[in-house]
Amino acid sequence: MVHAPPRPPAGAPPVRINLYSDTQTRPTRAMKEAMMAAEVGDEQFGDDPTVTALCDRMAALMGKEAAVFLPSGTMCNVIAIRTHCRHGDEVLAHETSHILSSEGGTHASLTGVQIHPLQGEYGLFTEATLRAAIRPRTRYAPPQRLLEVEQTANIGGGVIWPQAQLDAVVAVAREQGWATHMDGARLMNAVVASGIPAAEMVAGFDSVWLDFTKGLGAPLGAVLCGSADFVDQAWHWKQRLGGSMRQAGICAAACIHALDHHVERLAEDHANAKALARGLRQIPGIVVQEPDTNLVFFDPREAGMAPDALVAALRAEGVQISALGGRVRACLHLDVTEAMVEESLGLIRRILAR
Ligand SMILES: *Cc1c(COP(=O)(O)O)cnc(C)c1O
Repeated sequence: MVHAPPRPPAGAPPVRINLYSDTQTRPTRAMKEAMMAAEVGDEQFGDDPTVTALCDRMAALMGKEAAVFLPSGTMCNVIAIRTHCRHGDEVLAHETSHILSSEGGTHASLTGVQIHPLQGEYGLFTEATLRAAIRPRTRYAPPQRLLEVEQTANIGGGVIWPQAQLDAVVAVAREQGWATHMDGARLMNAVVASGIPAAEMVAGFDSVWLDFTKGLGAPLGAVLCGSADFVDQAWHWKQRLGGSMRQAGICAAACIHALDHHVERLAEDHANAKALARGLRQIPGIVVQEPDTNLVFFDPREAGMAPDALVAALRAEGVQISALGGRVRACLHLDVTEAMVEESLGLIRRILAR
């Protein structure tokens, strides 16, 4: 059987505290009311006023000419890469990037690109690493076409690219004539935590998308932004992949609600992440990466427990959390309160003391 996300063991209590992922947030009552009240039309026909309003707003937020509404972030990556590249082209991205690890091999099967895995700490790479990956333009080498970065870097620990480092890798891409694409699944976390406006942060990117189903708390949807010409071509792929929708305004309304009510509050998730990291650091043996945003990665092995074992022990106490890349990942979001952080810390202390 193909591996599916973990099912709770038989007899496990219901999940009271969900640190597993910011994708598991549920739409709030106010969000559902906004969805109920949405004006809708045929999105595929360009006739859904709520989708149009969301796309206009996102294009303005990102400082791009146009935007297109898609069902998921994965589809944004697939369509952006397919639009920028041809089969056999090479995309340069970090070795822990979502496009390499978590999209089901779609770039081998659908976009036809090969991905050059770049190394570097915390999901980031330097200008020097990128320069070292430049191939000669010969008949032998795959044509390098696109630079892809993740903001924030998920497996890197929810890390924000230092703006100067981001600008430096973009400058290499420009010099080489490559296109640039940002996987901005958690872009607004980076914007809120750094205080750098989104349009400024992504100014060097030909395409960028934001996921509404992470900390922004919408049930589905992501918006891909770029030039009018890029979005025009992206629409072709949206249609081909079956991503064109009908009365999608119901979902776009949730995204607009999230932009109005769930962006500034990401700062609370970041504060909760810092509080969790502080508490974990006080437990002897736990090695914690200082969080930039809403993800807290820690290693409990020196405290006498393997990541998987701690995940299972917490699940038995009604706390859902994940083991990722050899560490434990706690994800803070709008369904996790400060009190829940305290309670989780108490449980981890008790489990490790056993
Ligand atoms: C979640 C995520 C995606 C994919 O988004 P979906 O909406 O789940 O398809 C892509 N990149 C990163 C960094 C993500 O965290």
